[in-house]
Amino acid sequence: MKALLIGEYREGKLLDSTYELLGFAKELGAESALLLVGSESQLPACTGKLYLADASACGEYNPDLHKQLVLQAIEKEQPDCIVFLHSSYGWDLAPRVAASLKVAQVSEVTALVEGGYEVGCCNAKMRRTVKARSGRVVLTIQAGAFPVAKQEGTPQLEKLVATASGAVEFVGYEPAEAKDVDLAKAEVIVTAGRGVGKKENVAVIEALAKALGGELGASRPVVDAGWVEHSHQVGTTGQTVNPKLYVACGVSGAIQHLAGMKKSDFIVAINKDKDAPIGEIADVLVVADLMQFVPALTAKLQ
Ligand SMILES: Cc1cc2nc3c(=O)[nH]c(=O)nc-3n(C[C@H](O)[C@H](O)[C@H](O)COP(=O)(O)OP(=O)(O)OC[C@H]3O[C@@H](n4cnc5c(N)ncnc54)[C@H](O)[C@@H]3O)c2cc1C
Repeated sequence: MKALLIGEYREGKLLDSTYELLGFAKELGAESALLLVGSESQLPACTGKLYLADASACGEYNPDLHKQLVLQAIEKEQPDCIVFLHSSYGWDLAPRVAASLKVAQVSEVTALVEGGYEVGCCNAKMRRTVKARSGRVVLTIQAGAFPVAKQEGTPQLEKLVATASGAVEFVGYEPAEAKDVDLAKAEVIVTAGRGVGKKENVAVIEALAKALGGELGASRPVVDAGWVEHSHQVGTTGQTVNPKLYVACGVSGAIQHLAGMKKSDFIVAINKDKDAPIGEIADVLVVADLMQFVPALTAKLQ
């Protein structure tokens, strides 16, 4: 099995998520080569073949040019799978590559399972296993689903040059609107999940956050229900955080939430379900009704 991994740069910096592609290839047991449109001054910590195109000539993003570069590397490597991150870069480029190759594309892979790839469905409430019917397959992998795998050593460089000019011009990045809370800088975050039950109960979680000198976080359903502002959302479509202490109250541990908080130093989860997936990454899992446990803990801390 051979994999061609497509890493990413953002504003001249190699994205750490590039190493998740290496983690994916390792789990797959695949021999891998990496393709980057970036710069020689920012090479990843990895061994093996690295196809490198210069971002100053090709742009950090340009679908036509980057597709051409990916196709060039495919021609040389003859991989069984071409793997992108499920990012705005990956979800724009992967289908272009799959269409050019006339092969299957499987998006947002969260795990490797016997006989195929696991992907979420029904707004990530369920999982399904899919298998490509074409010999070769283009994949995008969910952020945080596979381990970061840095390697000792230096890659073996082969430079690529794109010749097409492309019909799309990359204009630039636009910073997201300033948030009223910067969770990325918080040392303690106490998060309200759907398990809080109703908007009025968020105050119980806020009181614990205050007693710990931390900030309030929220899972997506809590934000979607209008109980907490989006600026507090943690996860793939919210903020990525790494506090010293993360307390997840009534959060099940869906992959999209974990992607935003699993790098926290110490994780405490409070959940009435002892088998909730958050228990797999929590340092401490308190099996309790949060409406009983959280006020008691807050009172003790006060
Ligand atoms: C494209 C996409 C992007 C997404 N982005 C994000 C994102 O950025 N952030 C995010 O959080 N989600 C995101 N999601 C949604 C994600 O898939 C989950 O649906 C979501 O994280 C679940 O939130 P939750 O854990 O609060 O709710 P649930 O999954 O409903 O879990 C509630 C938990 O509370 C527990 N519970 C219930 N009552 C109590 C009680 N009284 N005491 C203690 N425990 C209790 C339950 O046992 C359960 O484990 C995204 C989904 C998609 C498809």
